[in-house]
Amino acid sequence: MMTPLATFPKGGVHPKENKDLSNALPIETMPDPSKVSLFLKQHVGTPCQVAVPHRPDPRSDHAIDDNLLFSSEHPGALFRLLVDKKDRVKQGDRIGEIGDRLGAVLHASVGGAVLGVKNILHYQVGKAPAIVIRTDPEAVAPIRMPVDWRHFSREQIQERIAAAGIVGLGGAGFPTDVKLDVKPGVKLDTLILNGAECEPYITCDHRVMVEKAREIIEGAKILLTVLGITYCAIGVENNKPDAIAALNEAIDRADSTDGFKIEVKPLAVKYPQGSADQIMQSITGRVRPSGQRSSSIGIIVQNVYTTKMVYDAVVLDKPLTERVITVTGRAIARPANLRVKIGTHISEIADYLGGTTADLCKVVVGGPMMGFAVSDLDMPITKTTPGILFMNHAEVDARAHGPCIRCGFCLDACPMGLEPNNIGIYVEAGRGAETEPFGLMDDCFECGSCAYVCPAKRPLVQFIRLARLEIDQARKLKEIREQKRKAG
Ligand code: SF4
Ligand code: SF4
Repeated sequence: MMTPLATFPKGGVHPKENKDLSNALPIETMPDPSKVSLFLKQHVGTPCQVAVPHRPDPRSDHAIDDNLLFSSEHPGALFRLLVDKKDRVKQGDRIGEIGDRLGAVLHASVGGAVLGVKNILHYQVGKAPAIVIRTDPEAVAPIRMPVDWRHFSREQIQERIAAAGIVGLGGAGFPTDVKLDVKPGVKLDTLILNGAECEPYITCDHRVMVEKAREIIEGAKILLTVLGITYCAIGVENNKPDAIAALNEAIDRADSTDGFKIEVKPLAVKYPQGSADQIMQSITGRVRPSGQRSSSIGIIVQNVYTTKMVYDAVVLDKPLTERVITVTGRAIARPANLRVKIGTHISEIADYLGGTTADLCKVVVGGPMMGFAVSDLDMPITKTTPGILFMNHAEVDARAHGPCIRCGFCLDACPMGLEPNNIGIYVEAGRGAETEPFGLMDDCFECGSCAYVCPAKRPLVQFIRLARLEIDQARKLKEIREQKRKAG
């Protein structure tokens, strides 16, 4: 009898995978777009401080408009003119700094002329400030020669990762150098590389594992060196046999005398296998206590693609200026796993792939479970965008939602053991602020499993987002009242 594959014990769903549209397509590089818009905040933390080049000749056709420079509207973002810089940037130039707070630096993803800082449509937050660069078609990408990372100290490796602006590419966007900066006294024993890629449709991590397995294994060794541990498990859902084979082959070929133990752990196919809590449980059986970090149970989790970018940063001194995204769905003329410059607008990506079909119904940025539907394609991708779905009418369930019928399916589906049905009922009754005891603030990661199984099509994730907003507002109000009371 075959041993069942490891998985997490509670909840989870099996949405139709739809990965066959793109999982066999080799990574393709899109030529530089006509412009990029680089959001100042593409990470967990505060927005970048911007070093905008000085105002060029006012007769020039790319003069910076003073009205586009602002700071007070965006707390934490600082815009300042640097008089000692020219108005042109080269690909890889550092154009956003982080100051002394949590953040990630930002680099020009193309060479060209800086047009200014503008409020640009963002698929998650409405509008947000971004540096806009018009691409110079003649710009040449810098040549990067590999170095032997083993000559670097742990601090030097950390510095290279920080200088490259690497953030978690799986979606969260936490600055990687900060995640690796584990507090003294924390005892780690395991690095988990997350290659589950359980979101339907999305195949970019899959292709990176197939095509860049050597770099991922070398990147794992770099991470282990920084963390001061020797064991790494790579979790991959079993629907990617070619990725599992490529990683195993890269492990076999790598130097095995350096004391590191790296192994691939094939996992059962079940959504959300790729969430940090679930992959930790699947591989080690350990459960993160609510409100604590994974390091409290001895584990650091990194996405496989982030690990490949760590390799690029440390070995090639290459900043994070491009990424592979999956562009798919039955309403795009040509699906692809596409290497694109960060900041490229979705409209240009769609045009490059031959446009959309006549029965386009919905565009989603990210996967269908956790992504965001958008109605305007004139918005850029970010460091954390894994894909864009162009869905036709047959792929979209457009039924309106009804009242809760108390079936309990969402309770069974929730991997965190929460009560999404009750959260929804409270929110609809205008009492979202009272849902804190349901544990959504610490434990819900908006995976959408509950909404997926709901026969009444209730928008449970949207209800949860609303509840979080209302809880936040209630907390702030309480703080203000407390301050007033203390002030007499
Ligand atoms: S979205 Fe939140 S409440 Fe719903 S299943 Fe996922 S973790 Fe549970
Ligand atoms: S799955 Fe939907 S209908 Fe069933 S209990 Fe949950 S919210 Fe109610």
